[in-house]
Amino acid sequence: MLQGKENRENHEYLEPIFGSNAEGRLLSKYKLSQEPVHPKIAQQLIKDEIMDEGNARQNLATFCQTFMETEATELMAETLNKNAIDKSEYPRVAELENRCVNIIADLWNADKAEGFLGTSTIGSSEACMLAGMAMKFSWRNRVKKLGLDINKKKPTLIISSGYQVCWEKFAVYFDIELKTIPMDKENMTLDIEKAMAAIDEYTIGIVGILGITYTGKYDDIETLNTLVENYNQQTDYKVYIHVDAASGGLYTPFVNPELTWDFRLNNVISINTSGHKYGLVYPGVGWAIWRGKEYLPKELIFEVSYLGGDVPTMAINFSHSASHIIGQYYNFLRFGFEGYQAIHRKTQHVATFIAKEINEMKEFNLINDGSQLPVLCYSLSEKATNPWTLYDLSDRLRMRGWQVPTYPLPKDLDSILVQRIVIREDLGINLAHEFIEDLKASLTELDNSQLVFHKEKELKDYGFTH
Ligand SMILES: *Cc1c(COP(=O)(O)O)cnc(C)c1O
Repeated sequence: MLQGKENRENHEYLEPIFGSNAEGRLLSKYKLSQEPVHPKIAQQLIKDEIMDEGNARQNLATFCQTFMETEATELMAETLNKNAIDKSEYPRVAELENRCVNIIADLWNADKAEGFLGTSTIGSSEACMLAGMAMKFSWRNRVKKLGLDINKKKPTLIISSGYQVCWEKFAVYFDIELKTIPMDKENMTLDIEKAMAAIDEYTIGIVGILGITYTGKYDDIETLNTLVENYNQQTDYKVYIHVDAASGGLYTPFVNPELTWDFRLNNVISINTSGHKYGLVYPGVGWAIWRGKEYLPKELIFEVSYLGGDVPTMAINFSHSASHIIGQYYNFLRFGFEGYQAIHRKTQHVATFIAKEINEMKEFNLINDGSQLPVLCYSLSEKATNPWTLYDLSDRLRMRGWQVPTYPLPKDLDSILVQRIVIREDLGINLAHEFIEDLKASLTELDNSQLVFHKEKELKDYGFTH
């Protein structure tokens, strides 16, 4: 259709964005503005607002996925309007979620005969809350039968001091005492002997972590299982293991399939993972799986009667978009076992390369070399005499766009300051070379500069817990 010139001149859409009145006005920031603005202008204004914050791809602090294929993001954008909880309205999406649960249960060697159950969540935090509650409820059911006075003491959960903050939330929200087992300098994982010694009748369970957020190391869940097996043979007060595999759950099955940490171990009764970490989906999606019904008390399952349907659900949240579940299913369908394996092996290769480079630098002492999770963790070498701290180095790297967090290790090791680099799929070997060049240049700059450095004891956090 063609229009006369006069008609066209009145049209706002012909206005250049940076010449329009709407763009030229000061935004109303904390109070709704009276008038609407053109969508193009709204979009541009918001892009401008966030343009100067960190670039996600160079954020080496996070485990969360920062890249997905265009086909996946299109699919996710197209399905943002589907509500994951409306299982009766969107039965095909419910089926895709069900397939994901089955795929993950299979990767974790769940036995169909035991009747595994699972659900999607918003992330591992929600999954850990659900698993924690299941442990609490099934503990209560067990010990009531044995005649224990459940009100005499708070129930306890045993975990290493390297736990992720979601477990502290779980303890506070659901009134549980967290018995934290200090990590020692040699292992920096769960001290299994001490964990076993902490068990009593009020223990709802033990959490093993596949990998510790601070360092990337795996708890020795196989040995823990053996000791728990022996313990359970001698008492009616059974204890079981939950594995927090937020980061390792969708990495280890492809890279170290021989490592026994999952449902192959009899006392591992539930596992969680974050689909948005090595499941390669944008945040947020997570998964929780129980090995059988007896570990997931039915009081926790709600039959949601919703617009004419009746569907069992277990979740803390209700409505949210189904697009992340669809993104997860896309990845499973698209990559298959070999695709995930190729991606993760390449990620590990990049981690090994960066670890080797860092190991050769006299300034650093490598604490985790990426041979388990592709996460590198290092402190300043005891021999280093430089006046700057790792915080100063973080600042320098940030000038080049790289976000590398510096933080103290948890309780009992908190005199050790470390830097951590999480290698993800989208940090290819070429980018990794660039990072090393930038790291070297930053070190030279720090050594040659006349700067007023931070006080040695100053503690800053750059958000390392995800
Ligand atoms: C990331 C992480 C969590 C929290 O996961 P979200 O998916 O971000 O909620 C819990 N535990 C461990 C070990 C983690 O690494």
